[in-house]
Amino acid sequence: MNIGRGKKNFSLPLPFLLFLVSCWVFHLPDIRYIRYRIRCRTSLTPMTIQETLFSKIIRKEIAADIVYEDDLALAFRDIHPQAPVHILVIPKQPIPKLADVESEDQALMGHLLLTVKRVAEQLGLSNGYRVVINSGNDGGQTVDHLHLHILGGRHMNWPPG
Ligand code: AMP
Repeated sequence: MNIGRGKKNFSLPLPFLLFLVSCWVFHLPDIRYIRYRIRCRTSLTPMTIQETLFSKIIRKEIAADIVYEDDLALAFRDIHPQAPVHILVIPKQPIPKLADVESEDQALMGHLLLTVKRVAEQLGLSNGYRVVINSGNDGGQTVDHLHLHILGGRHMNWPPG
């Protein structure tokens, strides 16, 4: 007997081939979304991508001491401040971390930095301040929504721990 040793017919059905070609041509389904899903290794429910504590703060479902808001960004006081002034600046778009930022987010990233500058001026940090972005586990990130820490009101030490 020659079980399992026969030549396998490996031709793909035409509709499936057409589907693959149209995915490639029309970017369907969204390759960014798929890459993000693979990176996060979370369930396939779209809600879970966006659902963090900070999403709830953006939607005003959780109270926060908001110091600045516009269409793209929100800034609020950190609940566990590490300096006399400790602000978090976040994009309203739910990007999990700096490592997930893509080239099309360039304008948004610029906007976040300008928001940092604006908020620091607004809060009177004329003597300087530190901006920190923790990204991923080794970076010490605890909330999976991109955020920029503004730390000010005291002299900062270097290197950080
Ligand atoms: P990271 O460790 O870089 O992810 O920073 C997350 C920050 O979010 C920490 O500094 C926390 O103190 C802060 N944080 C967590 N929950 C809240 C909240 N409900 N309101 C304000 N800040 C928060």
